[in-house]
Amino acid sequence: MQFIDLQAQYQAYKSEIDTAIAEVLQTSRYINGPNVENLEKGLAHFVGVERGVGFSSGTDALLATLMAWNIGPGDEVITTPFTFIATAEVICLVGAKPVFVDIEPDTLNMDPACIEAAITEKTKLIMPVSLYGQCADFDAINAIAKKHGLLCFEDACQSMGAEQNGKRSCSLTQAGAVSFFPAKPMGCYGDGGMVFTDDSALADTLLEIREHGQSARYQHGRIGINGRLDAIQAAILLVKAAHFEDEIEARQKVAQRYMDGLKGVVDLPVIRPGNKSVFAQFTIRSPERVQLAEALGKAGIPTAVHYPIPLHRQPVFADLGYSEDALPVADKAASQVLSLPMHPFMQQSEQDQVIQAIKSAT
Ligand SMILES: *Cc1c(COP(=O)(O)O)cnc(C)c1O
Repeated sequence: MQFIDLQAQYQAYKSEIDTAIAEVLQTSRYINGPNVENLEKGLAHFVGVERGVGFSSGTDALLATLMAWNIGPGDEVITTPFTFIATAEVICLVGAKPVFVDIEPDTLNMDPACIEAAITEKTKLIMPVSLYGQCADFDAINAIAKKHGLLCFEDACQSMGAEQNGKRSCSLTQAGAVSFFPAKPMGCYGDGGMVFTDDSALADTLLEIREHGQSARYQHGRIGINGRLDAIQAAILLVKAAHFEDEIEARQKVAQRYMDGLKGVVDLPVIRPGNKSVFAQFTIRSPERVQLAEALGKAGIPTAVHYPIPLHRQPVFADLGYSEDALPVADKAASQVLSLPMHPFMQQSEQDQVIQAIKSAT
């Protein structure tokens, strides 16, 4: 059994994907060009914003946006400790300081109730993550950002296609960034990412930043990066985008089967009313996580832990000086979470195996 079966997805779209890649090779247009532009337009429309700007990874999409907003030394960015390292890494890369606030015990997303106590004169930005494919509480977070004159930026690297109150992830605040890493809900065959925004000045700045700060050929008005999304990846993503809504529905079915089969057996993901998760991960919680993972492993079922160490406990952030009991909800989550196999091509028989194995182990 695969944790995420990328091969099944490739086989399902093989002829379209092979044709799309072959067309790029035929034209030899590898950098920028129509595939990238069509993807940016198409996905911006899908998300429900004016602009999309492709990047070489989710990390570069996050980094470039902080650069575009001139976040830098002396600034603080409020974020969650319960995420992939990239969220906080980009804050440090621009020279700013990540400030971690605790998470909600049910969704494991940033807890809006913890934000205001962390705001100082140095705070510039709130950067929630829409973890496991479920949007953070943007009504509450946007209200706090507005009240304090702060920017808000969704790390949507796990939530492409998710919805909150009928609006899609990446349209819920000033900007959002997704990752096209192969295992993400919309993945390419390498690295890729995109920033979405209604702010056309921000989008224009992002276009410059991803191209070495270039405003016109060999004219550089700012420091940028080489952050472009490649044309081959864009061509692959254009094929996948056409199937994405079906995949989102397939993910709902898989998640619902887990929910039904594991009800009362383990702690299940909590999806808030108004939210539609894309289940980038289907993550359960158990105080006996280690034993459960071991039992599933013996039954041939792969699992993963997202994430075993909250960021405030990572050695790289030791100098931020968080005390032992600073972020208890994140600590508890890190000790209990276990992600199960989850992808849109998962067979009912495979899910039955997972459910059975969990029942026998608990
Ligand atoms: C995957 C991920 C990233 C980084 O995306 P890449 O495309 O791998 O650079 C950032 N933040 C979160 C929450 C992620 O899950």
